[in-house]
Amino acid sequence: MNLDFALAILLIAFIIKVMSQVFLLYRLQQIDLQLDQATSRLIELNQLLENDADLRQAQDNFSHQKNIVQELEKKLRLIERDVEQQNIKIEQSEAALYGGRIKNPKELKDLEDEVKALKKYLQVLEDRQLESMIHLEEESQTLQDLENVLQRVKQEVFQRNSRYLGEKADLEKEIQRLENERATAITGIETTYYERYQTIRSNKKGIAVSRVQDKCCSACGTTLTGGLIQESRSPDRLAFCPSCGRILYGG
Ligand SMILES: [Zn+2]
Repeated sequence: MNLDFALAILLIAFIIKVMSQVFLLYRLQQIDLQLDQATSRLIELNQLLENDADLRQAQDNFSHQKNIVQELEKKLRLIERDVEQQNIKIEQSEAALYGGRIKNPKELKDLEDEVKALKKYLQVLEDRQLESMIHLEEESQTLQDLENVLQRVKQEVFQRNSRYLGEKADLEKEIQRLENERATAITGIETTYYERYQTIRSNKKGIAVSRVQDKCCSACGTTLTGGLIQESRSPDRLAFCPSCGRILYGG
């Protein structure tokens, strides 16, 4: 056998292999598997991009705490107003007491008692004011902490989403490339074979073509007869696994 003849044989074998329907189906299968993977990752990425549960949680915590602080501020303002009014009452009563206009000892005694009572209640109000201020300070600190958490989560979500969006853009390009490759790949496949392929693929978890490996169907593991293995290498006929029904590719 001279070299030219051997090369010609190899070339013919190569062409037959390229033209082989089962080979084309096998190639299509590989493209489809990549497409399946890319598409499912794309769906996953869209879900991840929509998922802002951690951000919403941080926002809710912050808003809830902000309401608490606003309520406490309101309460403190009311107490401060009460303290102020109480001081005015005391000033007025003391002015009357020491003003010299009231001479009646009974009246003066009553006024003195009133000032005492007013001062006693002022003490109660001032204690309340102090408690309120301490409480407000604690809750304001919590609000500050929650605001820091919110800022951090916002930053994290932004970085995370930027990463996802970058991956999504790459993936969309990859899907486009695979779809073009797929469109080219199916041009050489006979319609009936292509339809058969699609039916098996939708019934068999996305895998329609199974490679023959160690005389077995690589998809389900069934041992294949010699005749079937030979048939799986046929360029123009399809062989099917007797167990799982997939198209066999002898390689
Ligand atoms: Zn099988």
